[in-house]
Amino acid sequence: MASQADFHTHSTFSDGRLTPTQLIDLAYRNGVRIMALTDHDIVDGLPDAFAAAARYPDFTLIPGIEMSTDVPGNEVHILGHFIDWHDEAFRDRLLHLQESRLGRARKMVEKLNELGKPVTWERVEAFAGEGAVGRPHIALALVEAGHVASVNEAFALYLSRTGPAYVERDRLAPDEVVKLLTGVGGLATLAHPRELQAAGNLDALLALLSGSGLTGMEVYYQDYTPEEMDMFRALADRFGLLPLGGSDYHGLGGPQQREPGNIALTMEPVKRLLSLARQKGALGRATGPAAV
Ligand code: AMP
Ligand code: ZN
Ligand code: FE
Ligand code: FE
Repeated sequence: MASQADFHTHSTFSDGRLTPTQLIDLAYRNGVRIMALTDHDIVDGLPDAFAAAARYPDFTLIPGIEMSTDVPGNEVHILGHFIDWHDEAFRDRLLHLQESRLGRARKMVEKLNELGKPVTWERVEAFAGEGAVGRPHIALALVEAGHVASVNEAFALYLSRTGPAYVERDRLAPDEVVKLLTGVGGLATLAHPRELQAAGNLDALLALLSGSGLTGMEVYYQDYTPEEMDMFRALADRFGLLPLGGSDYHGLGGPQQREPGNIALTMEPVKRLLSLARQKGALGRATGPAAV
């Protein structure tokens, strides 16, 4: 299923394997014409992304971010689109989150050494490059060292929230992040709700977040089945949220991976998101034909 829109992608500035330019070239080849770059807790890939997008006159790029937040026993990711990514107080918050990611990743490397699955900090840093360090970079170092066969296996055996090498990091509360994102002029969308639904947390969270200014929920995502998409669309309707979605493309492989644009998102909710952005005066932060 190909969509012209993809609101959730990652680049080398967080834990994706393609540079913003390579990512946009791939998305464009796949038929995507409206895309958001949503790196984890960082906006530093946006200048390159805008430069790359400018080479395609029929391509619209939306500035975005994905922020990690916490609820007891679970992790909640929230996407922000059309954010004022130049805002200084916002960027200070992001810097702090990146420092916290560094300290946490070092502790995870120590734990792996204690578990007899050593990886070096130098290799994790090399995989992270100039971007925000994340567990996928540790996973790549584990694969390279021969301790696991794949990134997915690294998560299954060591790095998941319940894994033996997991370390918590500083995170904001989900309603705080919705307010932070809307406070910099953005529109906030709850990402990949499947695990929250499975844990029974989703209804209460949606009640809280829709009261804090949440705009959308991801319904069209990676390997979600048609039945799951129907169920999440009904839930989005019930809370007055736009049914959005994206590939969450990282280029890390695995059976769940979908290429940019390879999702069932239709243009109707996309148009509604654009018109909400227009009403908020935020549409001009995107560039390209859909941003005018
Ligand atoms: P971090 O931001 O360091 O907590 O890492 C979170 C990222 O790790 C997510 O955005 C995914 O890209 C990846 N991830 C989380 N859980 C898994 C998993 N079970 N298998 C593969 N990748 C995962
Ligand atoms: Zn990621
Ligand atoms: Fe996520
Ligand atoms: Fe993501």
